[in-house]
Amino acid sequence: MDLGIRGKRALVCASSKGLGRGCAEALAEAGVDLVLNARGSEALEAAAADIRAKWQVGVVTVAADITTDEGRARVLDAAQGVDILVTNAGGPPPGMWHDWSRDDFIKALDANMLTPIALMQALMPAMMERGWGRVVNITSQSVKAPIGQLGLSNTARTGLTGFVAGTARQVAEKGITINNLLPGIHDTDRAVSLDSGVVKAEGISMEEARKRRAAGIPARRYGTAAEFGAACAFLCSMHAGFIVGQNILLDGGATNATI
Ligand code: NAP
Repeated sequence: MDLGIRGKRALVCASSKGLGRGCAEALAEAGVDLVLNARGSEALEAAAADIRAKWQVGVVTVAADITTDEGRARVLDAAQGVDILVTNAGGPPPGMWHDWSRDDFIKALDANMLTPIALMQALMPAMMERGWGRVVNITSQSVKAPIGQLGLSNTARTGLTGFVAGTARQVAEKGITINNLLPGIHDTDRAVSLDSGVVKAEGISMEEARKRRAAGIPARRYGTAAEFGAACAFLCSMHAGFIVGQNILLDGGATNATI
């Protein structure tokens, strides 16, 4: 399917690896020029070189922490006028509800709620002027079904979801769609880090931890960054203009709910 977005420009945050990288690859395959971001420049430059060679699109890189004012300012400098925004950042650490301090909450809110909101506020006005834009926020399955030990994530991402629900309906008449993609477990470094926690807590091997987690998913496997990226690219496509303010689960059926 031709996604109809060849020649458009996208900012994909936190995209040297994992789900962000999957989104960047799928947009590049559709002919979209990219601004890529991550903190570490080595993996970022390697990803950019790979994508340029594979898809022959323009790729600009900004090595910066997207969750800081200074990092975001540098990314926004390079991303002025983009047609597509994919927000993403690392997820907060696991823990217990009684241990988190105010500072822990502020950090999680900054990374997973206030950063994507600030990026939308900065980039959507120009999209509205041009009458077309796409925003996809990478959130989490934990928005629909809380994951106890990821309370910081549950909290911050639910706040973002509320913002999107209202805002998406305010900007839709200008040709802009905002939607959230909710990953369940996907085969990325984040999954390795979550599974390492299980290995440590339960004294089992990594293989066993993965097997147990996969057994709880109807698809009986982890998702891939490529599958995730393809869903993102579709939401950014010309065909997705009537999908507004939705929260789309990509979790292999793990969330046991009728709707
Ligand atoms: P990942 O494999 O750990 O990849 C993270 C990517 O983001 C890397 O390129 C990393 O590069 C970059 N990054 C992290 N923090 C950043 C920051 N502050 N500023 C700029 N770049 C940053 O993670 P992932 O699995 O793709 O997950 C993406 C998001 O989805 C996370 O918020 C995660 O919590 C959420 N999620 C993931 C899963 C899953 O199973 N994978 C499930 C539910 C939710 P640098 O380290 O060099 O910055």
